[in-house]
Amino acid sequence: MDVDESLPYPGTLYVSTHVNRVRIIVANSRAGRLYVVATPIGNLGDFSPRAVEVLRACAVVAAEDTRRTGVLLQHFGITTPLLSVHEHNEQLRATQLATRLQAGDSVALVSDAGTPAISDPGFDVVAAAVAAGIEVVSIPGPSAVIAALSVAGLPTDRFCFEGFLPARGAARRTRLAELAAETRTLVFYESPHRIAETLADCAQAFGGTRLAAVARELTKLHETVYRGTLAELGLRAAADTDLARGEIVLAVAGAATAVAADDASLDRVLRLLLAELPLKQAARLAAAILGVRDNEAYKRALLLKREFAEKSAASDSQS
Ligand code: SAM
Repeated sequence: MDVDESLPYPGTLYVSTHVNRVRIIVANSRAGRLYVVATPIGNLGDFSPRAVEVLRACAVVAAEDTRRTGVLLQHFGITTPLLSVHEHNEQLRATQLATRLQAGDSVALVSDAGTPAISDPGFDVVAAAVAAGIEVVSIPGPSAVIAALSVAGLPTDRFCFEGFLPARGAARRTRLAELAAETRTLVFYESPHRIAETLADCAQAFGGTRLAAVARELTKLHETVYRGTLAELGLRAAADTDLARGEIVLAVAGAATAVAADDASLDRVLRLLLAELPLKQAARLAAAILGVRDNEAYKRALLLKREFAEKSAASDSQS
């Protein structure tokens, strides 16, 4: 079934080969298409007219949770039959759907919310379709990672999507330590139960002065974006239980720019404090003010003190 006449050669399977350096394309007009369809992450107004049209026209909608997608289909008056494709049956379904696509049925693939295959089932189905020479078409729309990144106020020119961090504390901290030098903006999906712990772990791994944003309930009634340093967001999570409610994306600035800013502000604060206080006390206060580790502030304070002593000695010898 062809559902989008605007695309070239609807419903056509191409097998390409090379004979004497000439590309020969063999069309199989019987094959269907696999449509990968994004669905709303909260606000039904975000469902595109094209997505509705595609779901209506396909032979079947392959859905992560047929009950949940059933509600969506009902809302838009779509009566296409549903087939479940979730993490426990995806490989089997991928083979079955590839056969069905080859036989001529078009299939729409959806997940519970957002874009299929992005921290959701879908990859196996797409890979099997690609391997079978089926045309795979994107019907793009909402995805929490892009929605959060676009409003976080952090660099977006390069970013790194990490999906969900490990749920267990030790494994999570190991993964964060591995990411400490990553210079691209980092984006994580996180559960509301773990966000306070994860903010504390991020502050420990990246330093409390790294900028970050917690985007919760995007496109929904209680949509809120909290922005600040990791240390500030950690304090906010402890004081404001709303921060840990609903669905959450955490974005954290990358290392290169943040480290440069950290060093500059640590030096500035230490210079002011060292002028008035003994070294240990100055380092402890600077660490508390900026949310950096005590020994990091102490080591930097030692260097500054030495620099200062060397400069004084040099100017004494000149006078
Ligand atoms: N495939 C989906 C996508 O493209 O966004 C993501 C699915 S993943 C299983 C669900 C996670 O996405 C949630 O735990 C949360 O971290 C994030 N998420 C989904 N909807 C959200 C929303 N409205 N606001 C903030 N985060 C959201």
